[in-house]
Amino acid sequence: MDVRVRYAPSPTGLQHIGGIRTALFNYFFARANGGKFILRVEDTDRERYSDESLEDLYSTLEWLGIKWDEGPVVGGPYGPYIQSERFDLYREYAQRLVDEGKAYYCFCTPERLEEVRKQQAESKSEYQGYDRHCAHLSDSEIKEYLRQGIKPVIRFRVPTEGKTTFHDILMGDITRRNRDISPDPIILKSDGFPTYHLANVVDDHLMKITHIMRAQEWIPSGPLHVLLYQAFGWDVPQYCHLPMVMGKDGQKLSKRHGSTAVRDFRAKGYLPEAIMNYVTLVGWSLDGSTEFFSKEDLEKCFTMEGIHKAPAVFDYKKLDWFNGQYIRQADNSRLADLVAPYLQEAGYVSSPLTDDDRKLIDNLVPAVKERMKVLSDVVPLTAFLFEDKPVEDKSIYIAKGSDENNTAEALEKGTEILLSGLKNGENEEAIEEKLAALSQQLGIKVNGVFQPIRVAITNSTVSLPLFDSIRLLGLEETEKRLVRANKLFKEN
Ligand code: GLU
Ligand code: ZN
Repeated sequence: MDVRVRYAPSPTGLQHIGGIRTALFNYFFARANGGKFILRVEDTDRERYSDESLEDLYSTLEWLGIKWDEGPVVGGPYGPYIQSERFDLYREYAQRLVDEGKAYYCFCTPERLEEVRKQQAESKSEYQGYDRHCAHLSDSEIKEYLRQGIKPVIRFRVPTEGKTTFHDILMGDITRRNRDISPDPIILKSDGFPTYHLANVVDDHLMKITHIMRAQEWIPSGPLHVLLYQAFGWDVPQYCHLPMVMGKDGQKLSKRHGSTAVRDFRAKGYLPEAIMNYVTLVGWSLDGSTEFFSKEDLEKCFTMEGIHKAPAVFDYKKLDWFNGQYIRQADNSRLADLVAPYLQEAGYVSSPLTDDDRKLIDNLVPAVKERMKVLSDVVPLTAFLFEDKPVEDKSIYIAKGSDENNTAEALEKGTEILLSGLKNGENEEAIEEKLAALSQQLGIKVNGVFQPIRVAITNSTVSLPLFDSIRLLGLEETEKRLVRANKLFKEN
């Protein structure tokens, strides 16, 4: 069997972690099985549709490097792949069900339906939903309504007896009594627009989709979809509903946990390969232990068997860790290109970059690379190079376990050691050893000496490695700042 899978988002919001996880699973499954990955835009809900969402869909997939074999832009043999361009087709298929008695016209006004709802609520009736008022209209009644110009919706006739089962690769058989399925849902609205169920089923069939991998929240639609396939006389594709993506607290991942839009992660400076790697591990594993996968790896080794049944937890810290790892592996020149916009945004370098800016960025990349978790960290890490905001609060210079007197002395003697060492061309280890020896003399920890020096030079407690900072700042400016800090500790 030729595997054909699809990602079928509705462009009603930004692409989020859960959505692209579905896209990645489908994409890798297709690649690993020599199949096709199809992108279909389910834009039947015109009220919630937005251009921005559609653009975000394309740009997010492009950023991640996911190419679709068939779909919008690239086309394919079963197009168009945008549902709003397929409305004639849905009308035809809905009418076909009407002609076969498997669906019917409903002329109920919104007022009548509201009345029914109210009565059901008041009488606490077990029966909820449409009362099948139009299920058995005669031909002449239908003609009369149409003559009056009333536009009907088309409702699908759900059997009132029996059960429907659908098989899910992960969850096994899921069976529902037909009478518990929403009574006679609308498949075509009065304006001729299809609803999700009809468009989704018709398209999966016409596009020859073999496996449906989608979020578990669609499980409740499963039985109705199976009934629709049966009504059309079509084979039912294989289902594999994916485990939910949760926050650490066990609740469905949402804005309460942090950013969920991929665009936001991108803006903060996550690398696409880190997002791809980590997000694929949310609810999937190869062997329970391998953590690093390139796109090429996953295109080969992804299996459906590796998908977990249990809900999966999205751990922001773990993603940060992955991102840091990928930053350290990245090419310096690529990183230089990637950090430049953050430095421009901060106003630290000009845009477009001058040759000097470019050189400076090339110089600082090897140092910041070791410390960044996300690319935007470049700004706080290098702020001391671009704006000099001396720390005036002495307590910030004082390391744990040290005090003001020791810090003053560490700063004074440390400055001497450092400056004379640098001026005499001593190597870094030798200078570090002397500074360590100083801390012993003073009876404080090594950091008792290094922290005040670092704060003096970088105006911050979180910064680049000491000698990188000095190299980037230059000896003259370094000296100036050290002298300034010494003065601060000598005042009163
Ligand atoms: N358009 C649906 C969504 O936005 C697709 C569900 C499915 O994959 O069947 O999630
Ligand atoms: Zn009706």
